[in-house]
Amino acid sequence: MTRTTRYHIVIKGVVQGVGFRPFVYNLARLWKINGSVLNFSGGVTIEAEGEDRNLANFLNELRENPPKLSLITDYKIYELPSCGYTSFKILSSDSGTDKEALVPPDVATCPECRKDLSDPANRHYLYPFTNCTNCGPRFTITKEIPYDRPYTAMCSFQMCDSCAGEYNDPTDRRFHAQPVACPVCGPHVELVDHKGKKVAGKENWLQACWDVLRDGKILAFKGLGGFHLTCDAMNGKTLEVLRLRKGRDHKPFAVMCRDLKTTQKYCLVNKYEEKLLNSLQAPIVILPRYPGVDLPQELAPGLKTLGVMLPYTPLHFLLFSGPFALLVMTSGNYSGMPLVKDNERALGELGGIADYLLWHNRGIVNRCDDSLSRVIDGETHILRRSRGYVPHPVTVRRESTAPVILGVGGEMKNSFCLLKKDQAFMSQYIGEIDSLEGEENLFSSLINFQKLIGVTPEIVAYDLHPGYASAQVARRIPARTFIETQHHHAHFASCLTENGIEDEEAIGVILDGTGYGTDGTLWGFEIITGDYTGFKRRSRLAAVPLPGGEIAVRQPWRTAVSYLLTFLGDAGKEAARQIFKDKNLSVIEKMIEKGFNAPLSSGCGRLFDAVSAILGLCLKNHYEGQAAIELGEIVLAGTAANHLRPYPYEIEAGIIKPGEMLAEIIRERAACTPVEIISTRFHKTLVKIIFKAVQEISLLTGLKKVALSGGTWQNPYLFLSVKNLLTANGYQPLYHHQVPANDGGIALGQVMIAHWRWLKRCV
Ligand code: ZN
Ligand code: ZN
Ligand code: FE
Repeated sequence: MTRTTRYHIVIKGVVQGVGFRPFVYNLARLWKINGSVLNFSGGVTIEAEGEDRNLANFLNELRENPPKLSLITDYKIYELPSCGYTSFKILSSDSGTDKEALVPPDVATCPECRKDLSDPANRHYLYPFTNCTNCGPRFTITKEIPYDRPYTAMCSFQMCDSCAGEYNDPTDRRFHAQPVACPVCGPHVELVDHKGKKVAGKENWLQACWDVLRDGKILAFKGLGGFHLTCDAMNGKTLEVLRLRKGRDHKPFAVMCRDLKTTQKYCLVNKYEEKLLNSLQAPIVILPRYPGVDLPQELAPGLKTLGVMLPYTPLHFLLFSGPFALLVMTSGNYSGMPLVKDNERALGELGGIADYLLWHNRGIVNRCDDSLSRVIDGETHILRRSRGYVPHPVTVRRESTAPVILGVGGEMKNSFCLLKKDQAFMSQYIGEIDSLEGEENLFSSLINFQKLIGVTPEIVAYDLHPGYASAQVARRIPARTFIETQHHHAHFASCLTENGIEDEEAIGVILDGTGYGTDGTLWGFEIITGDYTGFKRRSRLAAVPLPGGEIAVRQPWRTAVSYLLTFLGDAGKEAARQIFKDKNLSVIEKMIEKGFNAPLSSGCGRLFDAVSAILGLCLKNHYEGQAAIELGEIVLAGTAANHLRPYPYEIEAGIIKPGEMLAEIIRERAACTPVEIISTRFHKTLVKIIFKAVQEISLLTGLKKVALSGGTWQNPYLFLSVKNLLTANGYQPLYHHQVPANDGGIALGQVMIAHWRWLKRCV
């Protein structure tokens, strides 16, 4: 006789809204298991009773092949006395108080739903809100956990009989898919003019949208996490109008391409990029453009790349089923303001930019921008971690008894982080928070996020910059402990965390534009050693005054003048007057010489700014990092660069002085040396400086692990050269995989610094 056993199984993680219960149900039927499966706010519990061999197979499948959207973070199994179950049932949700189940991220429309969308015999034919257990909105529509329809933006839509039938049928692809809807019972779209007057409804919206776009009009298009501004990407005139109205004069526009084949007409796509474009997250991928390909200059002025994403909602697939293969899809906001997500606000805030609005009556609960990524050497680097990734946690190593910690993040590209047990929940992209709207966005997103994760922070970590709005927000949070963290230390800690480093020292090469230093100056070229609790500044770039402070960040030519004066004295002054003939330098010179309204900065980004301006590439930063990006894009690759040598430089007591390099750049410029050559030599110099510094520090300390963090590492040439050089010489480079190297990743470092200081009782 075969033995019968009963198990009680508790599974935690992303197991709700991902088809977990139907999966368990079908598995139970396959292996003749009786019992039940139930969602609770902490995850899923299973009662499973059956013959031992069947039960073993059932458990094995459960662990080895869970649904592809699920993420199991905890798995417990208890043996109980048999009780003679006679069937397997899916029980309705029990809403407990321990909110531990994770809300899944939004998922791009699956192939089956796309088939339904284009099948005239299917009841979802041409329906823009088609979804199933494997795809559709999740994070963006969820107010709180458990992830169940009443707690989502779908709560006001009563399911029709057909939808309810599918929803309740464990064998159906839409079983318990919370956002299920159809043309009979679900949300609908409407096209309105910029005053809100209806132009087309659910029967004729698609043709009307195409007509509007063909007329060269700008459309505000309500997507998954907010509104996009969309228009014909081939129409240079419309692009100009869009730039003007949006207040965005140079920053590249992202585009949406009909499919991979269309993308390959314009851009070179390797197999890693192809996979990323087609992934469940469907981020924007920065791709190299084919030289000479016919695209309007206004799309991405001055750049050789293009940010491309593929359609990821049924609404997008329908939009691309007509005459357009390439549309601009840029975030629906004025430059620097939060993404617009609500219909009413769209009329007010986007009515001045868009000619028409395509909106619908499914609410967006959580604002969520498109994610942005780039493949370097076959590896994905996330530059903006938002839609598709959030709120999936980053798993970290820490004590489970530790208190909940919030890191409020930085001032630019803000994203905050909640650390709960061994999971770090990075928020969606919040963006710039130096306006009232930005600060409000951070605060309200934080409140929503806390509800989704089911925690309130006890410790709050924030940047020590006295003027940051993030610090103001931090102070408004009722918590028992507040911990200040240094910007570059947070970058460093973030990188260590991602690489699974625990209580161990490492070297850090932290390069970025600006961060407040412990000495009150602006840092950004930091070669440090340390761990989570502290760091030592070993080597750095010499500081220069930034005439006008923030203004110099926007006008790199000012920084160039400062570099020339600081390091080359009178010769530099002469050179500056020649190079920037059309600028009145006398005031700037005084500011630099007297140190008046000229804070000291040693940021790597500022050095890029200076060189870029000296070469005449970029005198004005229209968006963060523009000068550095443009300088990085002209680096020569392969054999053309092999014979080019780094520039000379000086290093004195760990302080790097670029005087000799600048002198040579001036000479080469005067001799009309191509800017590509100068840029390449400049990059090679940085690689050499970094490598030599690491070598020296390693000799001194014995440390071999080198964390590379900070926005400058988004420069593919610099990153790859340093990474390869370190690896080839026996060092272990640590870099970012899951969170951005830029300021979008520092919140992770902040919470880990706070955690370790708490653990070691140094708070
Ligand atoms: Zn689907
Ligand atoms: Zn329906
Ligand atoms: Fe930074």
